[in-house]
Amino acid sequence: MSKEFVDVLVIGAGPSGCVSSSYLKNNNVKVKVVEKTQFPRLVVGESLIPRVMDHFDEAGLFPALDKMGFEKKLGARFLRGDEVCIFDFSDKFGEGWDWTWQVPRADFDNTLAQEVINKGIDLEFETEVIDIKFNGTDSITTVKNKNGETKEIHAKFVIDSSGYGRVLPRLLDLEKPSKLSPHSAIFSHVKDINREEGVEGTLISFDIIETEVWLWVIPFSNGNTSVGIVGPTEYIDQLSENGDPAEALKKAISLSDYYVKRFGNTEFLFEPRHLKDYSCSVKKLFGDGFALTGNASEFLDPVFSSGMAFATEGGMTAAKLALRQLNGEQVDWQKEFADYILYGVDVFTTYVKEWYTGNLQELFFHQPENPDVKRKICAVLAGYVWNKDNPFVKKHDTVIKNLANLIKTEKQALQ
Ligand code: FAD
Repeated sequence: MSKEFVDVLVIGAGPSGCVSSSYLKNNNVKVKVVEKTQFPRLVVGESLIPRVMDHFDEAGLFPALDKMGFEKKLGARFLRGDEVCIFDFSDKFGEGWDWTWQVPRADFDNTLAQEVINKGIDLEFETEVIDIKFNGTDSITTVKNKNGETKEIHAKFVIDSSGYGRVLPRLLDLEKPSKLSPHSAIFSHVKDINREEGVEGTLISFDIIETEVWLWVIPFSNGNTSVGIVGPTEYIDQLSENGDPAEALKKAISLSDYYVKRFGNTEFLFEPRHLKDYSCSVKKLFGDGFALTGNASEFLDPVFSSGMAFATEGGMTAAKLALRQLNGEQVDWQKEFADYILYGVDVFTTYVKEWYTGNLQELFFHQPENPDVKRKICAVLAGYVWNKDNPFVKKHDTVIKNLANLIKTEKQALQ
């Protein structure tokens, strides 16, 4: 079997793998990326949040993305019947980017991967990791290409960014069930022929059908729009009688008073994808000679579009620490990687849970709006979940519940 020798092997060329490999290459590390599929490939996760911009910028990937003319996302709109709540990322607590993009991921990820190649990184498509053996921090990874040929890649460090491929969690028995209750989604793209001119046409929106069920509408600059339904797995399963995802998504659209006219009659551009019980977790985020990032580690829920932000945060953090380790520094992976990432995961977990209890929805739709509360929540929704100056970060486990209870008590008193 042929052999290759690198400093760092990155598994998967999604956003997480592209950010980590770029950062390493910029710092003169010999890095290789192996990717199972050929790009462009379809993947879910089209609504970004501003925190990702910090990572694309630092990794030197921003200019290539910026040239693509993706739809700018300046905030997000939440709808519940006649109630509307709009977050504007320029009006948030603390520092951070005021905007990001909403993107067809096939094009977005392909742009990232091509830029990685342009930087001179060795990215091999249609090359799948099938085995790995560790000897201390050194590892030998066996990969197989589309012709069935195998080879060994010897690395001093491995960053697993394989998304739902979950390569190391599977090979090293690190899978762990998510703490969140099982939710599922069905989505597709439509040619948005009924799109209105102006802001309404391009505004990213989340329409609440029931407390735990919501429809996403993510318009792209190419004239297509992503439409998806999310809810408890049982609910999503019963949307169609025979499990037909197209029928289920059509039914879901018909339940949205706001969007039924716009999308009720449009054809799907591809057979809607059903993503069942999408939340996942791992027993640990790192080990001797490896780190897990993005969806290869933990995925919570799409409701606040945090997936890509954790993917790039994990990729960037792992790359920086791997670089220091390669340079002979002692790295405290527990404190500097796992504890750090899990702090952000914890904050978003509270927001996801409190979304589905309905408590966060109470805060979103409460009138009159409290601009100070809104600004602080907006910073969380922008992905700045490590800013402990923000009480909606620091006291995330109590603040939402307490405020929602106050609102409920106030409502009861008025009845
Ligand atoms: P990916 O983008 O999945 O990339 C992993 C890559 O690894 C893939 O290209 C894959 O082919 C490759 N790979 C897999 N196995 C192997 C192998 N054995 N060898 C080599 N390569 C391999 N996130 C958001 O930010 N916004 C959203 O709006 C959003 N919506 C979502 C909706 C749903 C229903 C779900 C389930 C998720 C959503 N997400 C969203 C999450 C988002 O999809 C992920 O968090 C994000 O794509 C993770 O990026 P990644 O780089 O970790 O993995």
